[in-house]
Amino acid sequence: MSSGAISGESRQKALIIGGGVAGSVSAMALQRAGMDSVVYEAYARGAEGAGAFLTFASNGMDALRAIDAHHLVLAEGFPTPHMAFQSGTGKHLGEVPNGGTLPDGTVSQTLKRADLYRALRDEAVRRGVRVEYGKRLLNAETTPDGGVAARFEDGTEAEGDLLIGADGIQSRTRRIIDPAAPGARYVPVLNISGYARGVRVQAEPGTFRMVFGKRAFFGYAVHPSGEVWWFANPPRAVEPDKAELAATTTGQWRELLTDLFANDATPAAEIIRSTPGRIVGWATYDLPSVPNWHKGPMIIIGDAAHATAPSSGQGATMAIEDAIELARCLRDLTDTQQAFVAYERLRRERVERIVAHGARTSNSKAAGPIARVLRDLMLPMFLKRAAGNGDKALARMHDYHIVWDEKVA
Ligand SMILES: Cc1cc2nc3c(=O)[nH]c(=O)nc-3n(C[C@H](O)[C@H](O)[C@H](O)COP(=O)(O)OP(=O)(O)OC[C@H]3O[C@@H](n4cnc5c(N)ncnc54)[C@H](O)[C@@H]3O)c2cc1C
Repeated sequence: MSSGAISGESRQKALIIGGGVAGSVSAMALQRAGMDSVVYEAYARGAEGAGAFLTFASNGMDALRAIDAHHLVLAEGFPTPHMAFQSGTGKHLGEVPNGGTLPDGTVSQTLKRADLYRALRDEAVRRGVRVEYGKRLLNAETTPDGGVAARFEDGTEAEGDLLIGADGIQSRTRRIIDPAAPGARYVPVLNISGYARGVRVQAEPGTFRMVFGKRAFFGYAVHPSGEVWWFANPPRAVEPDKAELAATTTGQWRELLTDLFANDATPAAEIIRSTPGRIVGWATYDLPSVPNWHKGPMIIIGDAAHATAPSSGQGATMAIEDAIELARCLRDLTDTQQAFVAYERLRRERVERIVAHGARTSNSKAAGPIARVLRDLMLPMFLKRAAGNGDKALARMHDYHIVWDEKVA
């Protein structure tokens, strides 16, 4: 199928593994770059569930503009450009921008993860991308002509010129590329979120209120409908097993959380009590550094290659930047290997810096009693600096801009 070189004669075909954020955006970006692709998603259609919400930073909005897809996030999300921090005692610690502001005034948005997945996937399909469901990748190998053959759990196979592993933090593609590749690293906080109704809280529209509580971290924002969208990060030093999390009932989560926040001067306990429906908890993981991102005609992007703890607010946006930068590289460089090398040069330093930032932020949420006192003393100074645009790390995170029309050298 392929000699590994992108010729002008026939369109290259990519097998994209995973129909999450990176997979759908990859398919749309490759289409713009003049390549065909098929997305193979392990789960049945609509299996995303209600689940968690995420903050979609302005750099992700900017990246989606390169493929005219930013309107999808604006349609699903609500603007959350500010964060205000307080301690469990009710002391105001400071305020910082939640992401940057694009030249046209676009700011970070908050939306349900399932809505983001659905919107991106539906748009890819609307643009003519084929998505196949129930296709869990088992194995892949290079074919004699330099292309790639993939084998799925249902016994079917597919062939293409290259394979893009966008199969998330537990990526099978990562292990196919390098059987010794690292696995996800446990970050010592849990993630629990929900949507409260009928509770009145003091929060300005567009502001996430973040509380470094005495025993756990809590964040909330008011949706335009009046719902209060919240998340909690109880510290948990030892990784819980999946069965334990799955067996924890909504009542048990509610009891644990209301107890953790009972002595904080915040509305956390009341918000949790006012949350109807199911409450679900996740363990938190990241993936700091994967030595080999590509091998032959296969490459990993998004969480499969570098996952950040949710506290950086950058996981989805990095996956999107990856997908678009990879498409640019494949468009402009005549050889797939050269394209992969150029892609890694563009991406590795940035994403690893953001993963490290996410780990630091998560660890500060799991601070012990002494570290907590120090943190609450130091934080106002850090927040003041960040608010004054003096935080270069944050600025670098949000100011990333992809010039789609610029040729990759
Ligand atoms: C609780 C929580 C909160 C978060 N909050 C934020 C936030 O505020 N801001 C933010 O930017 N990010 C946040 N994230 C991170 C963000 O969701 C991820 O970084 C992003 O979804 C990564 O996209 P991806 O496409 O690389 O992987 P995923 O979205 O995980 O998609 C991978 C896809 O591959 C499929 N798949 C897996 N294995 C296979 C296989 N073998 N064969 C075929 N398909 C397969 C999966 O079913 C899935 O559809 C959060 C994550 C969590 C868990």
